[in-house]
Amino acid sequence: MGFFTLLILGLLGALIYFGVKGRIVRLREEFAEALRRAQGKRPENLPSESMTQCKTCGTYIATGQQKNCGKQGCPYT
Ligand SMILES: [Zn+2]
Repeated sequence: MGFFTLLILGLLGALIYFGVKGRIVRLREEFAEALRRAQGKRPENLPSESMTQCKTCGTYIATGQQKNCGKQGCPYT
């Protein structure tokens, strides 16, 4: 085996190593995201009845905490 062959083999090994590593990291992120999706988003976490939507900008703000969003025509000051 010549030096060039060893170099190619080394490069291939590095490519495979980092490819597998990246895939594992992505899988782990997807798993964490799925866990978050399964645990969160319960109705009691969204007090929608105490939220008011700004008619102009469409942002939901807790009732009594409305403030101007900076958009033109926003009813809150
Ligand atoms: Zn607004």
